[in-house]
Amino acid sequence: MSLIQSRAVVEPLVHRLSLRPDEPKLPSVDEMVAALRPAEPMHCIRPGVIAASAFAFRHGFKGEVLYAVKCNPEPTVLRALWEGGIRHFDCASISEVQLVRRLFPGAEIHFMHPVKSRLAIREAWDLHHVRDFVLDSEEELEKILAVLEPDARPGLFVRIGLPETGASINLSKKFGATPDLAARLLAMARGRAGRLGVAFHVGSQCLEPEAWRTAIRLSGEVIRASGVRVEVLDVGGGFPVAYPDMDPPALGAFLQVIDEAYAELDMPGVKLWAEPGRALVAGGGSVVVQVQLRKEAMLYINDGVYGALADAGALNFRFPTRLIRPGHNDVGAPDAAFGFFGPTCDALDVMEGPFMLPADAKEGDWIEIGQVGAYGTSLRTAFNGFDRALLVEVADPAMLETGGKPV
Ligand SMILES: *Cc1c(COP(=O)(O)O)cnc(C)c1O
Repeated sequence: MSLIQSRAVVEPLVHRLSLRPDEPKLPSVDEMVAALRPAEPMHCIRPGVIAASAFAFRHGFKGEVLYAVKCNPEPTVLRALWEGGIRHFDCASISEVQLVRRLFPGAEIHFMHPVKSRLAIREAWDLHHVRDFVLDSEEELEKILAVLEPDARPGLFVRIGLPETGASINLSKKFGATPDLAARLLAMARGRAGRLGVAFHVGSQCLEPEAWRTAIRLSGEVIRASGVRVEVLDVGGGFPVAYPDMDPPALGAFLQVIDEAYAELDMPGVKLWAEPGRALVAGGGSVVVQVQLRKEAMLYINDGVYGALADAGALNFRFPTRLIRPGHNDVGAPDAAFGFFGPTCDALDVMEGPFMLPADAKEGDWIEIGQVGAYGTSLRTAFNGFDRALLVEVADPAMLETGGKPV
């Protein structure tokens, strides 16, 4: 018999939650750097910021809030979201489903990836009480129905593709049915659906509130064209946060457009759902890196695009930065522009920034890089052996105002 193994590429982060376990108050980032002098990237989770962002979203949004787990599946983060009242989770793989079910026996899990394996559908339904599945094709509808018993009544959600929006990352090329197909899928699914829904995703970090109005109107047209009753309109994720070069409208502006467009639909039987990721967790995570070498305005640091800083690479995201020198309160003003090289040997492991730091930044200094709670820890790889990191919980506020602001 051959040996068959299945393993996760990236092991869970090393937890060193507290230096003094008897001390209930969380430390600050600076205290942790002074105490640990971390030679590996140190991920700093801010549970208070995450819980506050979740609370603010839930109270501003007139519907059910599902957290998009892929954005940051770290258990510490998921627990902070639960603290903030999140009870629904948008999962895209069976591993995400298992993780959420293990942490929260009472959570409502929704399988919102339009392409799933038969095995994943089966396991999600049988073992983890997942009842909602998204689809954007006739083939996927047939697959879901073929896997489940003939008398099963799953929640079936049809994902609609959207024209270009103001999103930094557009997903409609990969997923989404045309309006004609979506209307047909709704009509076909109705007879077998315990509940029927329409879903869309405007794309991540969408700076334009009007993108939701356009998408909700399109959803309304699809629902009317289908001729069947629909119970849920899922307006997806994509809600933006602030970065040093992006200052999006406040969350309230997006939620107001959604309110207006929903009212205009005039379909009171249709309930609203949203699937935010970034908006709930971006400000809740930073990474502290150490400078290993300086060449003029380029700093070689110990984390990079194969670690927590993927979006600073190809997507050229800029993140807020802050120099930390334990014992020195007199670090200069952040008035010089730097670029970063990550630790791997790959030429693509470069982050142009610019990232603002004091002009005398040098080898041995630590730098806190903020707003990486979304798509930071979750995109880490083990490439080139640079997969070690520490994880700590801290009491600091977010490095930029975001999400947690009352709306
Ligand atoms: C990634 C994703 C989300 C979350 O997107 P954010 O931009 O992080 O809010 C929500 N829904 C779907 C279907 C996704 O793929």
